[in-house]
Amino acid sequence: MNDLLLVINAGSSSIKFSLFENTPSDPTLLYKGQMEGIYVTPHFTAKDASDKKLVDEDLPAELPKSHDTSLRHILKWLDTVTAGRKIGVIGHRVVHGGTRFSKPELVTPEVIVELEKLIPLAPLHEPHNITPIKIMGELLPGVPQVVCFDTAFHSGQPELNQLYALPYELSLKEGIRRYGFHGLSYEYIASVLPQIDTKAAEGRTVVAHLGNGSSMAALLACKGIASTMGFTALEGLPMGTRTGSIDAGVVLHLINHLKMDAKQIEDLLYKQSGLLGLSGISSDMRDLEDSGTVRAKLAIDYFVSKVVREAASLAAALEGFDALVFTAGIGENGADVRLDVCRQLRWLGVEIDEAANKVRSGEPRRISLPDSKIAVYVIPTNEELVIARASRACIAS
Ligand code: AMP
Repeated sequence: MNDLLLVINAGSSSIKFSLFENTPSDPTLLYKGQMEGIYVTPHFTAKDASDKKLVDEDLPAELPKSHDTSLRHILKWLDTVTAGRKIGVIGHRVVHGGTRFSKPELVTPEVIVELEKLIPLAPLHEPHNITPIKIMGELLPGVPQVVCFDTAFHSGQPELNQLYALPYELSLKEGIRRYGFHGLSYEYIASVLPQIDTKAAEGRTVVAHLGNGSSMAALLACKGIASTMGFTALEGLPMGTRTGSIDAGVVLHLINHLKMDAKQIEDLLYKQSGLLGLSGISSDMRDLEDSGTVRAKLAIDYFVSKVVREAASLAAALEGFDALVFTAGIGENGADVRLDVCRQLRWLGVEIDEAANKVRSGEPRRISLPDSKIAVYVIPTNEELVIARASRACIAS
């Protein structure tokens, strides 16, 4: 029976996967896992749906280190646990859909050509999203593949929120415009919001996706109208190792006066900045909270202050908002960050319930006081489920 649905989220050094059962209602998670350190020391972990660890091992050192080897290994392991059941659909996360893709698409040779044209827009991500599509086409020929885009959720933003004040032709001819990312996460939040808060789902919501990569989005009736991320996943909030927004003049200064080349600047902006750059300690919020040094506190305070300022900016785009949603690693687990953000947004009408904020749970929950003008929620995101749902809908249509 071809009743399994495989979701793949591939990066430069890791491949995450989730295997779903394609049940008539919603896809149901069976297994999830990842191959990390693909080109250094490939390490494979897998869990079942209850989070029980089933595998935690290095790949044999003699195997070639590649995405191909990793995907073969994942498929071989899945074969052992699924006892002859077959994968009927494969869904891939693709970071950039450009102006060409604003919804999930069935993979065809033409689609792959179009995806390759988008590589210059996301050179650090797009190639690693495309590679597994080609490999899976060879390993499981005939199994339909669907691509789901992180930019798609934002494609309906008003033009004003998609533009930079560059010569207009650069937007038209070169696609230099604000796309927004983390769309699969926002899509998930938009899909569950109606069951959690009808008023917010029909009204105005600010979602803070705070993780290793962080962004925020303004949702009007669950549709994205503004986002902190733009042309690349570098704009907006500071992140684990990324700067977030900086004056473009800094880049010119780095070139003209510090004589840095493009690769050095790319490394600086993407890999040495953000929480890591400010703290000098770590890109990981937990490490900074545990560290207690002045620089760690500075990094956390900077992060919080930018979340607050972006929330106010998105509030302006929405003319106020009814709900604030925290999601992703820091948003879901970082109670201290949430508390600081909410305290600094008190002037806007946010009244946090400090006891509720401290509760640890994997479930969606309200963390604002009953009379808070703006309702605040923690909603665990589920990008894989969005890909699974979209992939099967795409095949069905
Ligand atoms: P993500 O990219 O969504 O997996 O999020 C990763 C980020 O979430 C890292 O900065 C982690 O330190 C952070 N994180 C995870 N758990 C906690 C926690 N309990 N408190 C604060 N930050 C956390």
